[in-house]
Amino acid sequence: DFQLAARVKRIQPSPSTAAAAKAREMKAAGRDIIDMTVGEPDFDTPNPVKDAGIAAIRAGETKYTPVNGTLPLRKAIAARIKRQTGQDYPLDAITVGGGGKQIIFLALMASVDEGAEVIIPAPYWVSYPDMVLANDGQPVIVPCSEAYGFKLKPEALEKAITPKTRWLILNSPSNPTGAVYDEIELKALGEILERHPHVYVLSDEIYDEIWFGEGRFTSLVEAAPLIRDRIFVVNGVSKSYAMTGWRLGYGFGPPLLVDAINKLQSQSSSCPSSISQAAAVAALTGDQSFVAETRLAYRRRRDIAVEMLNSIPGLSCRAPDGAFYLFVNCAGMMGKKTPHGGKIENDLDFVLHLLDNGVAAIHGAAYGFSPYFRLSIATSEASIREACKRIADACKKLL
Ligand code: PLP
Repeated sequence: DFQLAARVKRIQPSPSTAAAAKAREMKAAGRDIIDMTVGEPDFDTPNPVKDAGIAAIRAGETKYTPVNGTLPLRKAIAARIKRQTGQDYPLDAITVGGGGKQIIFLALMASVDEGAEVIIPAPYWVSYPDMVLANDGQPVIVPCSEAYGFKLKPEALEKAITPKTRWLILNSPSNPTGAVYDEIELKALGEILERHPHVYVLSDEIYDEIWFGEGRFTSLVEAAPLIRDRIFVVNGVSKSYAMTGWRLGYGFGPPLLVDAINKLQSQSSSCPSSISQAAAVAALTGDQSFVAETRLAYRRRRDIAVEMLNSIPGLSCRAPDGAFYLFVNCAGMMGKKTPHGGKIENDLDFVLHLLDNGVAAIHGAAYGFSPYFRLSIATSEASIREACKRIADACKKLL
């Protein structure tokens, strides 16, 4: 038999993708399912961005680029970092890859040795623990209660740090909870980290444009400048510009780490797609009205969904401050009986019951936090209303 490497046996395929695949399968079989599992904008990539990709093809920009991305793209990224965070980063502190996901994977591959610990606050994005495991590290999961907005408290961070800690992974705005750390909260975490100079922070800010607060989103590099040399920020164009299929993300931070990521990239993918890079330049430097319009649309959808969900007895849902997900508490449904005589023992049972009633969602356990479920609002207002109605009906059937 073919022998698989231990690192592959340690990890699972992404459960979000698996749930979405199941919903698609049921739909293909003719079932009427509203898919609330999607992790990507339902909007189309803006036309000027598509045009830039087409123009790049026509102009013959169809060859290998530098490993760390084209100069115009890294300049556009540096300008965006300045715009968003007020910070200056030299071009060699920036690297570009085939999605934020690849950048995170390479950052871990470049820095995690066997047994190194990576602190991951839960609820977490499904990929973090498996990426750590795939790179021989040890995920250290720190549960963050709903009462504190699903956010990591400074005391909890301090407790989780050991001499083996290599990274803290912070994700704001968060997938799956939509939680956003404000400047004061980031500063408080920064103060703890000042005392532990061996700990680095991977700050995943890929949803930074999808934020419903007043003023500007605060990046960790802006809030905690004293530890800036130990922060690696991940971002990309997938979520802000509806470009998930273009596969383009970037990271910036410690030059030693960036060089190591470039080395790994030079021996694996060589560079991200030249066409996607040209399109990303257009996205980052062009008219930004798409970003503002979609932010408003997500906000409206959030308001509709939160109100409808909170009117369902037994469910409760905080209004998320960012991203396009709702993380709904379904503790009130545990122990209830289904019409077929089954019992709802956990959040997986609950989402299977929802699926029976025409709504696909992802169970909280996939994000390391139960009993909850995640609903994506990257879908039309009409679908959101219909899905919430179906969820209400499904809950009524439980006794
Ligand atoms: N980080 C988080 C929290 C995400 O939710 C995602 C996508 O789902 C990514 C990173 C990666 O996005 P991409 O690889 O498309 O840039």
